[in-house]
Amino acid sequence: MNFNEIKTLDEGYVLQTYGRNQIAIDHGRGATLWDTEGKEYIDFTSGIGVCSLGYANETWARAIYDQAMKVGHISNLFYTEPYALLASKLVPAAGMAAAFFGNSGAEANEGMIKVARKYSYEKYGEGRAAIITLKNSFHGRTITTLKATGQDHFHEFFFPFTEGFRYAEANNMDSLMAAAGDDVCGVMMELIQGEGGVNPLDRDYVQAVAKLCEERDWLLLVDEVQTGVGRTGSMFAYQQFGIQPDVVTFAKGIAGGLPFGGFMTNEKCRNVLRTGDHGSTFGGNPMAAAAASVVMDTLTPDFLAQAAEKGQYLRDGIARLSSPYVSGVRGMGLMIGVGVQGMTHKELKDQLMAAGLLCLTAGADTLRLLPPLVITKEEIDKGLAIMAQVMK
Ligand SMILES: *Cc1c(COP(=O)(O)O)cnc(C)c1O
Repeated sequence: MNFNEIKTLDEGYVLQTYGRNQIAIDHGRGATLWDTEGKEYIDFTSGIGVCSLGYANETWARAIYDQAMKVGHISNLFYTEPYALLASKLVPAAGMAAAFFGNSGAEANEGMIKVARKYSYEKYGEGRAAIITLKNSFHGRTITTLKATGQDHFHEFFFPFTEGFRYAEANNMDSLMAAAGDDVCGVMMELIQGEGGVNPLDRDYVQAVAKLCEERDWLLLVDEVQTGVGRTGSMFAYQQFGIQPDVVTFAKGIAGGLPFGGFMTNEKCRNVLRTGDHGSTFGGNPMAAAAASVVMDTLTPDFLAQAAEKGQYLRDGIARLSSPYVSGVRGMGLMIGVGVQGMTHKELKDQLMAAGLLCLTAGADTLRLLPPLVITKEEIDKGLAIMAQVMK
């Protein structure tokens, strides 16, 4: 089908909940994509930070195929090798104690919130269930994670929302103290706010929050749905902030393109959720777990160092453009925010797309770049050349 045929079907039969780009993606290889009309693009999106191994990765595809031909799905009422094997790779790499596997970021965060509330209930009783989250954060689209998200416009229409969330200004301990109280059981945050505009938190602030959590026995809940699994140049972003969370969530990049999400707890929280307290029909599906195992095998220390280095190379390259449309470049590893001025971030994204480069937007004025972790220097250079041409 060509683009117009696909678009007609979509508009006829699909809820129009997305502001879609006006192309249909057909196939890809590495960090290069082709649309249905045969036009080529350098991909600085990897979905939204999902396709960490790029497109048409043969090892990844083979692992999914092989597992599909063994058993594509069986419920979590049975043990399976891919689930156990993946947990044995992920948990030590994170310095955590145990994992739970679900299917998405919002669902992972729901599980993390359940851990915090049950931990507190069992130790302190009722009335200690509030979770402090940060302004400008993003934690998901369910009724609870919308409310956990610290942006007012997500708190419309869908009342009643889950109670028990309070918001503090990022990088501001006074604001956190103002939200504190006897009813708090945890603090939940992204270390680089992704959807909010690629805003890294200050290292000192993050460490001060971790210390406060320890003093008050609040759980430190880190949402690494976007930052996790190599995106920032380390396995998890918290490893660069010098903290260790009580619970951490992951999703987007973990399975390289199959739906997968989950959370890990430390030793203190590993027995909070017991038989019957939590579950998922699809969670940890054997094909998705086999795909995630390939991602974990790929993310060696050397590979992560290269991702960090390529991120630096891309950030330096954008800074060197000295474009009048760029107000600043920030981020860590291959999670990059470019401040846009002189036109809207959406206008710039559309112009780059027309010239053959796919990017994302975030916040009010940020171009967000989340290229596949396997992107080559040549592909980065092609992307930079397109930016130079469009943004001069
Ligand atoms: C994308 C994202 C989510 C939501 O993940 P879904 O898989 O869309 O439910 C939650 N938190 C953060 C930080 C995210 O970037």
